[in-house]
Amino acid sequence: METIGVIGAGTMGSGIAQVAAQFGHPVILYDVAQAYAERGLEKIRAALARNVEKQRMERSDAEAALGLITPTTDLSTMHAARIAIEAAPEDIDLKRDLFAQLDRICPPESILASNTSSLSIAALADATKRADRVAGMHFFNPPPLMALIEVVRGDTFGSDATIAALVDLARRWGKTPVIARDTPGFIVNRVARPFYLEALKLLGEGVADVPTIDRIVRSAGFRMGPFELMDLIGIDVNYAVTQSVYNAFFQDARYRPHPIQQRMVESGRLGCKTGRGFYDYSATGETKATP
Ligand code: NAD
Repeated sequence: METIGVIGAGTMGSGIAQVAAQFGHPVILYDVAQAYAERGLEKIRAALARNVEKQRMERSDAEAALGLITPTTDLSTMHAARIAIEAAPEDIDLKRDLFAQLDRICPPESILASNTSSLSIAALADATKRADRVAGMHFFNPPPLMALIEVVRGDTFGSDATIAALVDLARRWGKTPVIARDTPGFIVNRVARPFYLEALKLLGEGVADVPTIDRIVRSAGFRMGPFELMDLIGIDVNYAVTQSVYNAFFQDARYRPHPIQQRMVESGRLGCKTGRGFYDYSATGETKATP
């Protein structure tokens, strides 16, 4: 089993590391501070324990998966990774810097993939000397449950062999890969922008409140309402993706971020991960919306 490197141990990085370990890969889980890497590992431990409790998994398998994950703050340990999946904050300069470092650290045959929701993979490939071995590998939240993975390719990066390797990896993990071109937001996050933004406009105009909008959207067949979903994703992450898509389309008004998002980020109400977003999670500690 090839070693998988995961860069960023937050919401997505911890989930991706969990998937890789459940499928028997040694995983190096990097974050900038030991406390953050450990927090990621704790999240995985809790998720695996829930799986055992619900009899979705044997205790021995959960323990084996956990034992495969090494949390670290030393990026140089990524030299062991055959596939490095970056899940750091949605910031192009930060990601370019990481890709340049990973390019120096990882052996030339290793693939460098990004879980970015919206940023240009071409710009990340350009920060390396191995554009042919760079691609997008965009998971959905939470990675252990969501089947879809967008594998992103472009004209200047991602050889056929690289794309085939990532598609193969996704299939081995029981996922459903789709190949998307390198456009802002790829497929899902582009389609999803109006979903969030129109809901925020309805709220801003006082047309209906948060639970009502979520309930109506759910009753129309969606699994989650827009506000529950923003809380799950992280308001900061959702806001960063909205800004990125808006700017990448030359400030097209259709994608303009909403001041409510900005205010919530400024006031630290980031959703489930901080205990408060559009809903209050402090009492339950759950990641499920509790209106
Ligand atoms: P998050 O804020 O939960 O986690 C980000 C992690 O990166 C944190 O643990 C942080 O300490 C760490 N970090 C900060 N600076 C770093 C650096 N220089 N190097 C490495 N790690 C660093 O964010 P997230 O929700 O996990 O999002 C990560 C990426 O995944 C983003 O690009 C986001 O767009 C994408 N994404 C998010 C979702 C979602 O629903 N949240 C879904 C798909 C893709």
